[in-house]
Amino acid sequence: MTTIAANLQTVRGRIAAACARAQRQVEEVTLLAVSKTFGPEEVREAHAAGQRAFGENYIQEAVEKIGLLSGLALEWHCIGPIQSNKTRLVAQHFDWAHTVDRLKIAQRLSEQRPEGKPPLCVCIQVNIDGGPSKSGAAPGEVAELAREIARLPNLRLRGLMTIPEPGADFEAQKAPHEAAAALFRQLRAQGIEMDTLSMGMTADLEAAVAAGSTMVRVGTAIFGGRPKKEG
Ligand SMILES: *Cc1c(COP(=O)(O)O)cnc(C)c1O
Repeated sequence: MTTIAANLQTVRGRIAAACARAQRQVEEVTLLAVSKTFGPEEVREAHAAGQRAFGENYIQEAVEKIGLLSGLALEWHCIGPIQSNKTRLVAQHFDWAHTVDRLKIAQRLSEQRPEGKPPLCVCIQVNIDGGPSKSGAAPGEVAELAREIARLPNLRLRGLMTIPEPGADFEAQKAPHEAAAALFRQLRAQGIEMDTLSMGMTADLEAAVAAGSTMVRVGTAIFGGRPKKEG
């Protein structure tokens, strides 16, 4: 077995154990393999080990990879910041965008989605722990943004996404995830249709699953460490 295949097995085991502890079904949690900075060969290896959904942060890098791997039935998720001048590439090449936090970006994605493609699945990124310089909509703005996005013809609102500050222990990790889950429930109770809570990474996926995550975004535990240039 390759290292990536073994790592995937370990991560699936972590998700299954976290689901069991939370009395949730393992099918409720999708694993997104975050392949940023890794090449097409690593993605192929993960695909050969049964992985289908991949997350990318750097749009230009992702578009090249997506092109090289177009023969495989993969699902591509944009999880990096989306500037206005990159919306067209995201609309053309990705299946999901997790980091939509303002209407202008959503409108451009909808306008630029090519005809014949299914609607682009969208999550609203929420700045759940209130970091002043962080991307993400403020929790109080999310309901209105969600209603506007739901009206755009070529987008399909799927849910919320968060990147909380790293917590020192399980309880500290769980708190922002629980706040996001509470917001998610509140929006659904207000009639906003959503099915996805994108939260949890290598360090905190157990806490995220305990709080109700339906999609964990895992890079390091699958592909190994990345050079430190992260944005
Ligand atoms: C890089 C990244 C991940 C994966 O992080 P790991 O700690 O390597 O699992 C998940 N989500 C986002 C938004 C990222 O940028």
